[in-house]
Amino acid sequence: MKATAGPGLELLDVPEPSVGPGEVRIRVLRAGLCGTDLHLEQWDDWAASTVRPPMTIGHEFYGEVVEVGPGVSSVQVGQRASGEGHIVCGMCRNCRAGRRQLCINTIGVGVNRDGAFADHVVIPAANVWVQPDDLDPDLGAIFDPFGNAVHTALSFPMAGEDVVITGAGPIGVMAAAICRHVGARHVVVTDLSDYRLSLAKSAGADLVVNAGTTRLREAMDELGMREGFDIGLEMSGSPSAVADMLATMNHGGRVAMLGLPKDPYPVDWGKVITHMITIKGIYGREMYDTWYAMSSMLQTSPLLRERIASVITHRFPAEQWQEAFAAARSGQCGKVVMDWS
Ligand SMILES: [Zn+2]
Ligand SMILES: [Zn+2]
Repeated sequence: MKATAGPGLELLDVPEPSVGPGEVRIRVLRAGLCGTDLHLEQWDDWAASTVRPPMTIGHEFYGEVVEVGPGVSSVQVGQRASGEGHIVCGMCRNCRAGRRQLCINTIGVGVNRDGAFADHVVIPAANVWVQPDDLDPDLGAIFDPFGNAVHTALSFPMAGEDVVITGAGPIGVMAAAICRHVGARHVVVTDLSDYRLSLAKSAGADLVVNAGTTRLREAMDELGMREGFDIGLEMSGSPSAVADMLATMNHGGRVAMLGLPKDPYPVDWGKVITHMITIKGIYGREMYDTWYAMSSMLQTSPLLRERIASVITHRFPAEQWQEAFAAARSGQCGKVVMDWS
């Protein structure tokens, strides 16, 4: 947990979190490590302005329901579950219209309230996603980033389209697997890391491009593409990747943006306008349509299950959390999962 303001984390004995009305306590079995957690550990400007220690971080998890609060009937003790980490207000315009992912008062588990790098985590029953008993616990722990990938990849009709994904972090890799699953034609992934590109390749990308050495345009030639990409999925937050993507989109192309840039940057708006490109920002997961899509696709496709699980490259027992953070920081990794069982 984040005991005090400043860099670093500590593993501490704290009282079991109490369960209020409408809430559920989950015994954490697995937790995924995410870029957000690295920012919180390092205590950058964003972390300092967002988090009020002491607080337990961690928002990607899977576990067993061990207690339900008063008024909870949708979840039972003993069920296995993942959790949606965005807690919404239920009363703003978007919430009341059923567009909960657009809530203006969202609270983040493991960011604004105690999270999942702990033996127990408490979340509202509405945020519990009950999983089948036979689901691989590791897979259950990464439903949050898997949901980012599904939300982004399913933003636009994908069947038969040529897709470019910029960024082969865990979400970009999972997005490649999803594009394949839902019937894209060519799926091209770019990154600067050959290690990460090899993960994308084995997850189903047709072609991977190291943007440091190869132009995206050359990749198009290799695939015999004469026009341009129909769909772009931006997963890197890198201004140069965005420029490359926009330069190779077909007229009328559609771009979903998930990667968060560090700073504002210029965009070739002339191209966006004259090529009539649609750009859509993506945040989190649709509540809870994305969750239904995730579970349904995994249920019917052993290949997709295998490819999504393949993004997990490192597993550590929770006591070795420092090694887990070091692995995640190294960049020579896909998803890092910690075992809390
Ligand atoms: Zn995350
Ligand atoms: Zn709301």
